[in-house]
Amino acid sequence: MSDSVLVLHTGGTIGMVDTPDGSAPAPAALAPYLEDIVANSQGELPPISFMELDPLIDSSNATPDTWCTIARILYDRREDHAGFVVLHGTDTMVYTSSALSFLLPDFGKPVVVTGSQIPIARARSDGRQNLIGALQVAARPDVPEVSLLFGEFLLRGNRAMKVDAFGLDAFESPRCAPLAKLGADIVVNRSLVRASAGEPGLMAARLGNVAAVRLFPGFSASILANICRPPLRGLVVEAYGAGNGPSDDREFLAAIERAVADGIAVVVVTQCVRGSVKPGAYATGSALMRAGAVPGFDMTSEAALTKLAVLLGQGLDALTVRRMMQQDLAGELTL
Ligand code: ASP
Repeated sequence: MSDSVLVLHTGGTIGMVDTPDGSAPAPAALAPYLEDIVANSQGELPPISFMELDPLIDSSNATPDTWCTIARILYDRREDHAGFVVLHGTDTMVYTSSALSFLLPDFGKPVVVTGSQIPIARARSDGRQNLIGALQVAARPDVPEVSLLFGEFLLRGNRAMKVDAFGLDAFESPRCAPLAKLGADIVVNRSLVRASAGEPGLMAARLGNVAAVRLFPGFSASILANICRPPLRGLVVEAYGAGNGPSDDREFLAAIERAVADGIAVVVVTQCVRGSVKPGAYATGSALMRAGAVPGFDMTSEAALTKLAVLLGQGLDALTVRRMMQQDLAGELTL
């Protein structure tokens, strides 16, 4: 097996150039910087192969097809490289890193998703450090899962949240400790890293139609009912606190009941940054569960949404999907 790392550039600020409309991706703009970094690393970085998506995108334009394309590229080259770095825009980075963790079960090699807040062509770019850190982690055998590297931290890909639109420490995973800290040394939290159990798989055929809604006081039951129509197959409800919703609103509960009866998997996560859905903690939460929703525990909304899309894309029946949404498949939830 080669000790090389495949760098897949998908777009995002790290490789962007200035245009009259603001920053935008440009083909071949990033490669010279990457070559220079590796050439001057005095052997501290692994040999690399480089690929660019065509077209490169601002990650605000990412779609489930983008996730599947990335997953397929990595899966097809799994045997050719020791690890993989995915360069990606920060705006939807956690959707992609979450999706990859479900699309590539038991991948068994590091997949490090990273990017930057300042283009690599700029003097003060954070892209250089993030890229170097990602290459070093991807070359190590001890973090064989999908992770997200930004600043000083390596986070589990399906646990991360973007917390800052401009700051250089733009990501955190408040519901799960970092997989590693990149200080003077790279210190891996080995007790947290997942070992792959089975054969590597690729779940990227097509994904189910899903949506997420955030509850707020006055959320209209008829809007909810309108969302819960074909082609919707899965719904993430970002509920209050420990998983609570408006249990006095009969129409709201009826809309959930109808959705579940129509075969839509409804999963409840919390709007809080920390903590978890705790079934039975409040009567207002129990009402959601009685209506047929299932708890997503401490999954992020992004992890719940992408997991639901991947599971529904496998053609599983609603009962199985609802059961699997409550299981830990890729380190995305704490039971
Ligand atoms: N809009 C950019 C993107 O997500 C932001 C970034 O990369 O930081 O592609």
